[in-house]
Amino acid sequence: KLSMRLQRVASYIPKGSVLADIGSDHAYLPCYAINNQLCVKAIAGEVVEGPYQSALKQVLETGLQDKIDVRKGDGLDVLEIGEATAVTIAGMGGTLIASILERGKAKLTKVERLILQPNVGSKNVRTWLIENGWELKAEEILEEDGKIYEILLAEVGEPLKPYQNKHETGLQFGPFLQAQRSPVFIKKWMQEKDHLLNVIAQMDASGNTNLEEKRNELLKQIKVIEEVLA
Ligand code: SAM
Repeated sequence: KLSMRLQRVASYIPKGSVLADIGSDHAYLPCYAINNQLCVKAIAGEVVEGPYQSALKQVLETGLQDKIDVRKGDGLDVLEIGEATAVTIAGMGGTLIASILERGKAKLTKVERLILQPNVGSKNVRTWLIENGWELKAEEILEEDGKIYEILLAEVGEPLKPYQNKHETGLQFGPFLQAQRSPVFIKKWMQEKDHLLNVIAQMDASGNTNLEEKRNELLKQIKVIEEVLA
């Protein structure tokens, strides 16, 4: 059974789309999307041999080789220009997701929707979207097996629109997530605050006086979190 995280990612795939799932690993997401008629065709991209073989095997075992192309290559390199109408990139850090999008942006001409699930560093993804004309349309945060995940949905549009009145913190916290203030959102940022407090406590215990600047920076970050949660 597909993880709740990937089910939620799949729920944003527009009906009838041609899906490119980049960093597909076992190709669970495209298999699920085809089996549930969420897309008409899919491309599973993988850059590493092991996961690429897993994807090939999974697609053959599910008998979906006519509908899902498994391709080996880096990021969006596996796509022809205009081939995909929806792209999913899930289960990686935000920096890697942003660099895949940046390097492959020529391949996005026909893409109506980006569905991105950064494990950490979603700020990098939001920044890339703003700089490249993509408007955040929705965000979701969920917890599964003790881990907290964010899902970002973007379409071509007005990149700054969702940030109105909350631009300063929006990039870090997510404009929709910040407005929703779900229990998982609050939990995530309480945990992050605890983590930062721990780092400060360790610095103080080390007795190193050269850390003053870093310490002040961390205190500033904690203050931002407290203000958002207040
Ligand atoms: N997308 C799946 C999910 O969310 O469960 C798999 C996530 S897995 C942790 C990340 C996968 O991305 C790995 O299989 C890795 O090989 C692949 N990957 C990392 N960088 C990549 C790149 N530049 N292009 C294609 N795949 C990449």
